[in-house]
Amino acid sequence: MKDSRGVVDQGRYTSPKPTRQIEGKRDALRRWLYASAPMLAGKVRRLATSWAVATLLIFCALLYQFVNISPVFAQGLTGSASPGSLVGLYSQLVRALDRQDWRQALRLVDELRRQEQDPAQRYDLESYRLELEARAYAGDPPPPPQPATLPFLHKPFAGTFPVSNLFDHDLPLGEADDNGRFLTVQGQVWIPNPSHPCGKSDGHAGYDWEMPIGTPILAAAAGRVSLARAEPEFYCPALGRSVRGLRVRILHELGSPETQWFETLYAHLSQIQVREGQRVSPEEVIGLSGNSGCSSGPHLHFEVRRLNNTHSGQPAAVDPYGWLGSGLDPWSIHPQGAESLSLWQVGQAPSLGSCWDLLLPLD
Ligand SMILES: [Zn+2]
Repeated sequence: MKDSRGVVDQGRYTSPKPTRQIEGKRDALRRWLYASAPMLAGKVRRLATSWAVATLLIFCALLYQFVNISPVFAQGLTGSASPGSLVGLYSQLVRALDRQDWRQALRLVDELRRQEQDPAQRYDLESYRLELEARAYAGDPPPPPQPATLPFLHKPFAGTFPVSNLFDHDLPLGEADDNGRFLTVQGQVWIPNPSHPCGKSDGHAGYDWEMPIGTPILAAAAGRVSLARAEPEFYCPALGRSVRGLRVRILHELGSPETQWFETLYAHLSQIQVREGQRVSPEEVIGLSGNSGCSSGPHLHFEVRRLNNTHSGQPAAVDPYGWLGSGLDPWSIHPQGAESLSLWQVGQAPSLGSCWDLLLPLD
């Protein structure tokens, strides 16, 4: 009982002392907290800052990995990548390809191949190099072509008129050409279209110049008139009716070193002023221009045909401006074709105006 009382008492009487001691420690802690608050706040701030720094470092590490494995992203870093690194080499390659600098591109691919550690990547780079070589070969412009020349033609009219249709080197067979392509003397491929300024009719076998009806038409060279009459009546799809145009053909014999036979053709005339069999001199008036035959507007259709030295042995229309494309003229190797030669005498080639987009000294 005493013990219990004592305990109780002890509990009752002694408790104030420990309570005071606890209160004292709480006070001390409170005082310490008050005193240390600024220092603790600083520690918390520093801790938070160090976490931010750590997060930033991890993010940077991830970004670095991403940059190193992503070629697409690497292309965006062209400015910052060091020149010798793989990323730098790839970005230089992209720029070299953009400006079609094949030599530099091949050099960079070689350097990439040398630095690449991954055998699979090296293999890919080797096949890429072969592809690049082929592109370099095709894309490298060869020296300007020198067309074969046989200069004997004069301009078939005086003055300057706009050209409205060119010779189609891709099957100049008129109606028989339905390949839907038009290949110019310079090797440009166009889609023929009636509204095209100079590639209107697919398979066009000559050159058209728009000129007023009644413009004097001149013999392009000395020769003998082989035809001077209305053509046989035929259906003209463009006009939706049958037509009979007036045309003149002149035969030209060129002597040396071996005889070459040419024929010039002048179509859609309004008047013929020569007879068949008649000999004509260069620039002699043979008739007046017009709009006869299958023609939708006044113009001269001028055509040159080779009568020998053709693949079929039959007459074949050729381009009097020759062939200036970088590849092979398809018409020069066609079974019905022949090689086109530059046939104009110096200063005599009629202007091709805006259809001539390369500045070549023809006129
Ligand atoms: Zn024509």
